[in-house]
Amino acid sequence: PVVTRIAPSPTGYMHIGTARTALFNWLFARGHGGKFLLRIEDTDRERSTPEATAAILRGMTWLGLDWDGEAVSQFEQKDRHAAVAHEMLALGAAYKCFATQEEIEAFRQAASAEKRSTLYRSPWRDADPATHPDAPYVIRMKAPQTGETVIEDAVQGRVTFRNDLLDDMIVLRSDGTPTYMLAVVVDDHDMGITHVIRGDDHLNNAARQTMVYEAMGWEIPVWAHIPLIFGPDGKKLSKRHGATGVEEYQAMGYPAAGMRNYLTRLGWAHGDDEFFTTEQAKEWFNLEGIGRAPARLDFKKLENLCGQHIAASEDAALLHELEGYLEAAKLPPLSETQRNRLSRAMYCLKDRAKKFPDLIEKAEFALNSRPVQPNEVAAKNLDAVSRGILRTLTPRLQNGSWSKETLEPILTEAAAEHGIGFGKLAAPLRAALAGRTATPSVYDMMLVLGREETIARLEDAA
Ligand code: GLU
Repeated sequence: PVVTRIAPSPTGYMHIGTARTALFNWLFARGHGGKFLLRIEDTDRERSTPEATAAILRGMTWLGLDWDGEAVSQFEQKDRHAAVAHEMLALGAAYKCFATQEEIEAFRQAASAEKRSTLYRSPWRDADPATHPDAPYVIRMKAPQTGETVIEDAVQGRVTFRNDLLDDMIVLRSDGTPTYMLAVVVDDHDMGITHVIRGDDHLNNAARQTMVYEAMGWEIPVWAHIPLIFGPDGKKLSKRHGATGVEEYQAMGYPAAGMRNYLTRLGWAHGDDEFFTTEQAKEWFNLEGIGRAPARLDFKKLENLCGQHIAASEDAALLHELEGYLEAAKLPPLSETQRNRLSRAMYCLKDRAKKFPDLIEKAEFALNSRPVQPNEVAAKNLDAVSRGILRTLTPRLQNGSWSKETLEPILTEAAAEHGIGFGKLAAPLRAALAGRTATPSVYDMMLVLGREETIARLEDAA
């Protein structure tokens, strides 16, 4: 059975790269009927904050990346980490090192003066325990000093590391806390992780982590180190390129399904397919499709896909997500009337909206309340003649069914009577109903607003 995980460090906001790594792990697990776990790597007590953990949980939830079971706190496993370090001691795979900072520094200076490798070689590696002083110590891994450590990576292929270039890393500090390198391996083993899919900035760590697995006789997971996300200019993604935080994207109004689609395509390909549903992504996602070149963030493509997802969304789900967007963007929530109108209006707002602010702009007629204040351009369409035409129109709207079939002949006849084209009639109607010139069709607005509100708005303008 496949078990994957995302293991973010809660030291700031949730980065878009973390979201993509989480997404890949989630897709892989879900596509294989496996489990996807969340581990908060909060071992660094100084830099970890509860706010950052909360932001990670919110980001994951927004993107619909549900994890199995409870989120695991790495810090809470610290006793287990220490126990494993001592097991390594017992197995002869690690040793107590009593070297002081000064001694290590002196070693480095001497090595550097003699132009030898400054890689620290502890004299305690082969010391007889009977000679151990009663002093603070760290536990170091007794790493192989010759030969190679080989990583078989599902993305990077076979990667070899010369063992003589690696020192005996510390696994347990003198205060009894584990180092990151130990904690990750112990947790991944204990959580039964079968596939480690993570950024390729961790590729070098995989060599050292492999040594821990081997020392403990544990099964090594499948490694898949994915290239990081770069900006459109090919440089490592940073603030300078635009938003890097997941929550910023939510607050900008990108729909979650569009984000998922785009992030899935960012560094992974399935033939020429660009637009796909999350269900398809779960079915198709594989490690073979991950590219080795860094993926470049392309905002145009993102918007394009988001637009297609908005158009393809169910009305009710889209409205629900729009309300989430309003909250994320710190905009006022919908009133009951606005929600009712919007739910009726969704069908005519979905096309050509790339993100929620586009949709809201088109929805202004439904969000407005009377009296509608026309903007400057729209006001020009409400001159004396146009207002006169609106006045002749309102009585004709009083009866009959409120449907496009009934309304169409009424408006067409009115235009003909005044010797104007339909467009000339539509302009003051748009101004009266929406207060602006770019709106959904006049019929759509009338149907969404209903008879009473439509007539009232026309009378206000007339
Ligand atoms: N906590 C690490 C990070 O945020 C992830 C470690 C891992 O995935 O193995 O970069």
